[in-house]
Formats: sequence, structure tokens, C-alpha cells
Amino acid sequence: MNAPIAIIGTGIAGLSAAQALHAAGRDIELFDKSRGSGGRMASKRSDAGSLDLGAQYFTARDRRFVEVVQQWQARGWVAEWQPSLYNAQDGQLSASPDEQLRWVGCPRMSAITRAMLGALPVKFSCRITEVFRGDRYWSLLDAEGNSHGPYSHVIVATPAPQASALLAAAPKLAGVAASVIMDPTWAVALGFESPLDTRVEGCFVQDRPLDWLARNPSKPGRDTHLDTWVLHASSVWSRQNLDLPKDAVIEQLHGAFAELIGCAVPPPSFTLAHRWLYARPAQAHQWGALADADLGLYACGDWCLSGRVEGAWLSGQDAARRLLEHLQ
Ligand code: FAD
Ligand code: NAD
Repeated sequence: MNAPIAIIGTGIAGLSAAQALHAAGRDIELFDKSRGSGGRMASKRSDAGSLDLGAQYFTARDRRFVEVVQQWQARGWVAEWQPSLYNAQDGQLSASPDEQLRWVGCPRMSAITRAMLGALPVKFSCRITEVFRGDRYWSLLDAEGNSHGPYSHVIVATPAPQASALLAAAPKLAGVAASVIMDPTWAVALGFESPLDTRVEGCFVQDRPLDWLARNPSKPGRDTHLDTWVLHASSVWSRQNLDLPKDAVIEQLHGAFAELIGCAVPPPSFTLAHRWLYARPAQAHQWGALADADLGLYACGDWCLSGRVEGAWLSGQDAARRLLEHLQ
């Protein structure tokens, strides 16, 4: 019997591994607890249009990722974003232009993972709770009590805190995943009927509570009927205010935004808050991916490398490469 390979997680890491394995002629099956793909690169459809609440843009520095981003650009999945960039420190807002190429999914961040998924077999709204091995094959158990399998190998492509439980069959890998601290991020979107009178389109913020601001319609292909802004709180503030009600989070970040932006800020006609519990690893690692090749269990994700889109994609490639090498 030629059993397929199971991949848990349809963020960019899981889909990067899926594409590499599919290209090598391997059968795969994907699972995700959410209703769609993308994970932290997903976009939220709302009354204010589609909003990138997680990853805002990405850079490509590794040659392999640069090449793949060029292919995505040729297919229209991504476009360059050239925001009018600012920096805010000690209450001072200053223009901070640079030469860095920054990419966004087009017409929304989630377009990338949706296109990568294509027609690959996937089960959404399926939270995997257990990964276990019989004599030869792997099986998965989901939160509804259904079992899935048999599989020849399993790749766990979830954030580290969620991966450690799924890696229990390989205690060494589970221990490594459990050692990774991931910081939260509160994200707030505000929508204004009339455009705010500012040139700011993206801003790195050094002052608490904010970390970053982006003017969503300045990204290519976005809905422009409202002037929508995405605000990210710093990791420290997000952790300190993890259980604050959404209304209070919106009020505090809106207040900080109004103070910082340097123009009149009317009451927004649209607001939304989203808490990313496992937004980013507290530090970068050089693991590539984790593997117990004899068992056939692998783990990948941004937390194995740089905590960025590029790191997640590279980690998925590394998991697939190690699995394929072991098969030869
Ligand atoms: P994820 O995207 O988290 O994918 C994991 C998937 O696994 C999810 O779809 C989840 O639903 C699924 N899953 C989890 N547990 C289970 C389970 N038990 N069963 C089934 N499915 C499960 N990076 C940048 O490069 N630039 C940025 O500007 C940037 N900004 C960011 C801002 C925020 C607020 C956040 C949260 C992240 C940001 N990042 C940014 C980081 C970037 O989004 C991540 O590095 C990258 O998307 C991680 O991809 P991943 O595939 O490793 O994980
Ligand atoms: P990048 O090169 O644009 O930014 C890296 C860092 O350099 C920025 O965080 C910022 O501090 C600084 N920087 C870059 N250009 C600047 C400028 N013109 N003026 C002032 N400071 C500037 O992008 P990258 O290396 O791909 O990093 C991705 C971004 O994603 C980072 O900003 C990171 O903070 C963010 N991120 C956020 C989360 C979250 O949960 N909020 C998670 C992962 C990544």
C-alpha cells in the first residue's frame, strides 16, 4: 500500500511542504482547524472589505524564496507594496523611507495560500488532537472523535505551542517545540468614512502600546470604500492585556493611534479587534525543520527559523526535503 503523507496546518509552512512533496509525486492530505487556509497570513472579510490582520507584508532575502516570489508575481498572486513609510519614537513621527522591496498578497494576503493550495486535498474545520503510530502507519484523531489515516508520514505545521502535543510520539521533538515561547499580538482595524489627512501609509512604532500601523487601501488591489487602518500592539502590551475585552482594546489602540498620527481622527465607522495568541516566536532559531526521520514525523513553521513569512516558507521546504531524502 502507498499511504499518503498527512500535513497538519495550511499556513504558508504547511503549504510550502505540500507543494514540494506534490511536485515530487507524493500524495498528501492537508488538515486545518480553521475554515480556510493561510493561518497568520489569512485575511478577514468584513463590512470594510478584506483586511490583512496578521502578516502585513513580507520581504524575500534567501535566493530560493526570492525566486518563488518572482513566480508568484508573474502569476499575479503578489504585488509590490511601496508605502509612504514612517517611524514613531518618543511621540515623534518622522518619514523613514528605504529601498527595501516589500510584497503583499493580491488582492489580499490570503490570496497566496489559497493559490498555493489549488486543488490539493484538504479537510478544513478539522482540529487534530492526536497523532499516533500503529505498526507501520500513522493515524490522526480529530476533536470530533473521527480518525484519519493510514499515513506513511506526518508533518506538523502549526505554531510551536500547538505542535508540542501533536508531536508526543517523538518526545525529543515535542520537547523542542514546548521550549519555544510565542508572543501574542492584539490587532485592531479602524475604518473611516473620509480619508485621514495624513501621508502615513505604514509606520514602525517604538512607543507602547503600538508596534505597527498600516493603511490597508494603500496596498495594491484593496477595497477603498473606507479608509481602513490596521494597528498592531506590541508583544509586551499584548501580553499584559491578553484578556482585555475587545471594546477596551479598540478604545486604547484607537486612542494611541489618534495621539500618534498627527491629524484629526474622527470616530471610526468600523472597528474590529483580533487577538493572535501565538503571533511570533520570542526569538529566532536555526533549526530549519524538526525531524524524526526513522519514525516519519516532522515539524515545520516560522518558529523553526525567523518568525517571518519567509522563514515559514523555508521551514516547509526543509521538512519536505528531509522527508524526501529519507525515502531515497
Ligand atoms: P501559521 O500561519 O500559524 O499556520 C498554522 C496553521 O495550523 C493555521 O492555519 C492553524 O489554523 C493550523 N492549526 C493549528 N493547530 C491545528 C490543529 N490542532 N489541527 C489542525 N490545524 C491546526 N511575517 C512577516 O514576514 N511580515 C509581517 O509583516 C508579519 N506580520 C505579522 C503580524 C501579525 C499580527 C502576526 C500574527 C504575524 C505576522 N508575521 C509577519 C508572521 C507571519 O504571519 C508568520 O511567520 C507566518 O504566517 C507563519 O506561517 P506558519 O505556516 O508557520 O504558521
Ligand atoms: P523589514 O525589513 O521591513 O523590517 C524589519 C524591522 O526593521 C522592522 O520591524 C523595523 O523595526 C525595522 N525597519 C525596517 N524598515 C524600516 C524603516 N524604513 N524605518 C524604520 N524601521 C525600519 O521586514 P522583515 O525583516 O521582513 O520583518 C517583518 C516585519 O514583520 C517586522 O516588522 C516584524 O516586526 C513584523 N512581524 C510582526 C509580528 C507580529 O506579531 N506583530 C510577527 C512577525 C513579524
